Amino acid sequence: MAQQETDEQISVDDEGFLIDTEDCEAREAAYRERGTSRPITVVGNPVLHKECKDVTAFDDELARLIDDMFASQRTAEGVGLAANQIGVDLKVFVYDCMDDDGARHVGAICNPVLEELPPGERVLDDSNEGCLSVPTAYAALARPDYAVVRGQDARGNPVRVRGNGYFARCLQHETDHLYGYLYIDRLSKRDRKDALRQMAEGTPRYEVVPND
Ligand SMILES: [Zn+2]
Repeated sequence: MAQQETDEQISVDDEGFLIDTEDCEAREAAYRERGTSRPITVVGNPVLHKECKDVTAFDDELARLIDDMFASQRTAEGVGLAANQIGVDLKVFVYDCMDDDGARHVGAICNPVLEELPPGERVLDDSNEGCLSVPTAYAALARPDYAVVRGQDARGNPVRVRGNGYFARCLQHETDHLYGYLYIDRLSKRDRKDALRQMAEGTPRYEVVPND
């Protein structure tokens, strides 16, 4: 019941963009407190390296998954989390991420598709990127500094999410996850190897799913 009340506060603006910057603290806490934190899958786990299934049932089970994803994201101190990062083969990601204007965005999106930017509007940003599924590693990766993703909310309504800077990076990174790509797959061979070395040498600060 509390969930209905919380979700009904989320809506879209005139252009169909999810309003994800309001009541962030309360909304994130509500999801997380209903959910249970789960261990994070890491590079090499097959669920991370194939396209996830489309969400077709916008039901209580999906709502519970989203709650668990927010709980897991908080435990691992992430700014975004895709379902396959807790071992679930479904196209949904959650985020709790700041943009470059200092605005916090909290939301969840199902079946996301990255919209193509007009070539003239592509400005690349080569900041560092990391991933909960490649623990303790970071690498610089050029990505457009603005992104628009379209998909559906947890009830199946069509929504779009847009962001700049670090949040744009997050939207692209999480969408990639659901198509079976990690950010290290976009690096040069040498940088990828270096990221895997950083991971091998580090110790994650959260529970991970061991690979067989
Ligand atoms: Zn990631």
